[in-house]
Parts: sequence; C-alpha cells; structure tokens
Amino acid sequence: MDATEKTLEAVRAMAAAMEERRVELTQLDAAIGDGDHGTNMHRGFRAALERLQASPPGTPSEVLKAVSMALVSRVGGAAGPLYGTAFLRASSALSGREEPSAADVAAALEAALAGVKQRGRAEVGDKTMVDALEPAVRAARQAEGKGVAAMLRAAAEAAGEGAEATVPLTARKGRASYLGARAAGHKDPGAASTAYLLAAAARAVE
Ligand code: ADP
Ligand code: MG
Ligand code: MG
Repeated sequence: MDATEKTLEAVRAMAAAMEERRVELTQLDAAIGDGDHGTNMHRGFRAALERLQASPPGTPSEVLKAVSMALVSRVGGAAGPLYGTAFLRASSALSGREEPSAADVAAALEAALAGVKQRGRAEVGDKTMVDALEPAVRAARQAEGKGVAAMLRAAAEAAGEGAEATVPLTARKGRASYLGARAAGHKDPGAASTAYLLAAAARAVE
C-alpha cells in the first residue's frame, strides 16, 4: 500500500469512527452545547469520502486537502472551520512529500495544531479540541523514532487522556463557555472527536 492509499485508509477509518460515535458526540454536545457535534462531524466526513471518490487524489497532501474542503463546506458551526484549518495546514505541511516519514507526519500534526490555535485562539485548559490535540502533538514528537503507526498510536492515547482531562474544566471558548461552572463535569465534544479521529487514523495505518 503506498502512502496515498494509506492516507485514504486513514480518512475512511476516521469517517467510520464519526459514524460510530455520532450519537455519543452529539450527547456530549447536548450537555454543554447545542447537541450537533456528532451529526456535524458525521456529515462532514461523509462529504469528504464523496469528494475523494469523485476526484481521486494523487498524494497524501491532496487527500488531506480534499478532506479540508469537505469539512469547511459541510460541518458548519465552530468545529467546521477549525477542523478544516487543521486538515488544510496538515495538507500544506505534507506538500511535496510522496512518502512522508514519521517526522513529516509529526510536523503535519504540529501544523494542524498551530492552525487550530491561530484560528480559535484557544489554549490548553480552555476545554476545547486543543486540550486533545496539543498533548497529541507532544506525544507524536516524542515517538517520532518509532515509525508512523506507533507515533499515531501514542498521539491518539495522549489525545484520549487530554479529552478526559476536560471533564472537570469550565470552558473559556465555544458555546460551553456561556454555561460557566455548569460546563464542569462534562467532557468536551471537540476534544473527544479529536481523540477518536487520531485513534482511527492510528488503527488504519498499522
Ligand atoms: P458549535 O459549537 O458551533 O455547534 P460543534 O458542536 O460542531 O460546533 O463543535 C463544538 C466544539 O468545537 C467544542 O466542543 C470545542 O472542542 C470546539 N471549539 C469551539 N470553539 C473553539 C475554539 N475557539 N478553539 C478551539 N476549539 C473550539
Ligand atoms: Mg454544537
Ligand atoms: Mg452548532
């Protein structure tokens, strides 16, 4: 399997994860937001698969670019532009890399995080997807020497822990910030979806 096919497999796995987690993510969002995160992400990844089928990409970078375009146009809300930016930055970081190394993939994750933080102005502790993505990037950098699959596994595990750590927090960004102390006791849906996406990608490239 070449790197483009592996990237496609990762996106298919992410789409399947969003289908599987649709209700759970929507329930998390119902508790501290407007109850649409699961349906938003499921719709966006379905659109990504359709786009990839309509015009097959030739490189990993092109795969991620197509995903970005689909997410921006179909997810909506806060998460659409943020995930769209994440995938677009990752795509740019991989541009010209036909067979990305683990270091290239780590750099792409880092670029995705930088894009999300620049666009959303959230930091770790604000109870957002940054709480999952930033520890994931740190773990990826540390596991770079172990190859892409092990690196993504480490990133996914760190993202999962980061998502769990959002439970006691009050939110400083997004809809949940309107709730004040009432957001505490609930996991952030965007942090949860980030962890599920990374876990799916890690399983797909084994
Ligand atoms: P909306 O809140 O517009 O309905 P979603 O429900 O799809 O959008 O996504 C909500 C998620 O978006 C939150 O759980 C949070 O993780 C993420 N989010 C919201 N605002 C920001 C921000 N400024 N920076 C990073 N992530 C954010
Ligand atoms: Mg919502
Ligand atoms: Mg909404």
